[in-house]
Amino acid sequence: LKPGAHRSNSGDWIFTWNCDTCRDSGLVKTLLGPNQCTACQAFLNPTSARVFGAICVLTIKDKPVDDSLFNFARALVPATSENPLLGEALKSLLVLPSREVKRTAKRLRDEWHLPVIASREKPKGYFFATNAEEFLAWMRTTRSQAISELATAYQLFRDNFPELAGQQPLDFVDTVSTELQEAIR
Ligand SMILES: [Zn+2]
Repeated sequence: LKPGAHRSNSGDWIFTWNCDTCRDSGLVKTLLGPNQCTACQAFLNPTSARVFGAICVLTIKDKPVDDSLFNFARALVPATSENPLLGEALKSLLVLPSREVKRTAKRLRDEWHLPVIASREKPKGYFFATNAEEFLAWMRTTRSQAISELATAYQLFRDNFPELAGQQPLDFVDTVSTELQEAIR
């Protein structure tokens, strides 16, 4: 089996790595905290170095390194845009409930400032952006989704709020409208 995630005929996930110490992430957890793997060369992978950098920033600031974020980030290091890790595989590997996969990915973006990409087009799955194109493709999708949600909310507000509120002033509508215009610009 090639290193990575594989689904067996029975539907179970099987994972294989070149380095069992770091699971090809270049990152290990020692008694003294997270560190780079000395058993292989995976730490030379720029993505591994980027994640380790994020961990170092936390350490310098005396902030704890959350285990679930560490394990999630580690699992994503060997993933790529051509070979991303499916949410189902992450769920099985990290023993997470489905909604936690999405939530942990968001926390890695919010708290560790890492470019976690969730591709909804084939090949589907999670990976870290490793170049500008990958990042921009994700940014475009994210932006259009946010604008579309805001547009729906705005439309619903206009169509429903006056009746619900009993004809109150609609200054808020104008505010939302301005925000929307600016977001779309
Ligand atoms: Zn290793």
